[in-house]
Amino acid sequence: MNSKDCPALVLRNVCYRYPDGTRALSGVDMRVEQGERRAILGPNGAGKSTLALMLNGLFRPSSGEVEVWGRVIGPDNERWARRMVGLVFQDPDDQVFSPTVAEDLRFGPRNLGCSEEEATRRAREALRRVDLDWDTLACRPPQNLSYGQRKRVAIAGVLAMAPRVIALDEPTANLDPLAEDALLDVLDDLHGDGVTLAVVTHDVELAASWADKVTFLREGVVVADGDVRLLWDPETVARAGLRSPRWSRRREAGWPPCFPPD
Ligand code: ADP
Repeated sequence: MNSKDCPALVLRNVCYRYPDGTRALSGVDMRVEQGERRAILGPNGAGKSTLALMLNGLFRPSSGEVEVWGRVIGPDNERWARRMVGLVFQDPDDQVFSPTVAEDLRFGPRNLGCSEEEATRRAREALRRVDLDWDTLACRPPQNLSYGQRKRVAIAGVLAMAPRVIALDEPTANLDPLAEDALLDVLDDLHGDGVTLAVVTHDVELAASWADKVTFLREGVVVADGDVRLLWDPETVARAGLRSPRWSRRREAGWPPCFPPD
């Protein structure tokens, strides 16, 4: 298949057991098309974070396979898979650890073999894309930034590697409403640039307002997969151990009220 037409990600019958024997994923099938905005939804312990770690080969399935841009991830293409799929961890402090923001952002490109000049160019561009100012922040230690800024620096670190797919684990956790909006604007811009996005979350409001497609996971099993409108199907969300987005529940309860009152 032409790489222009192939899906961005395919999981086929993926199972994963942790070394202590805990079964985190059982027979997971999922297909994410290029340019899609996919939410992977489920309650705590559903296997979402484990699945995210599968997407670029950081974790390898106990059985089954993960395909990126038409190629099954294996020992011969792991580095390539990590370049294609960038992972943004839930906690930016697991990801941003260099003494300065600039160093942190240059780290990935350097690892890819870029020259110092190219690494700096990519770092600057990545910071611009997350709407942060290089002149103000480049020399600052990441730990002195706000949580929302650290989160955006973590995303910039991934962007500096120019991945085609970005998977984000609970990207809006612990953000205040304006920081959440700013982050969603960044994701919208990336989507506009053709980047494929997969967001792992239990936040049905986030999924409802942002995603095109959804995969519902529960106890390591896909319970439903399809259009975002599945989120408004009470039977599906109940099966997934979640609830419908707030405004759909309010509508069922006769909300919003009529203004002005009749
Ligand atoms: P989610 O992200 O949906 O909350 P996780 O992927 O973190 O779910 O966890 C899925 C299952 O795997 C849970 O039962 C969890 O307890 C288990 N698990 C997660 N990490 C480990 C680990 N390091 N060792 C053993 N079991 C784990």
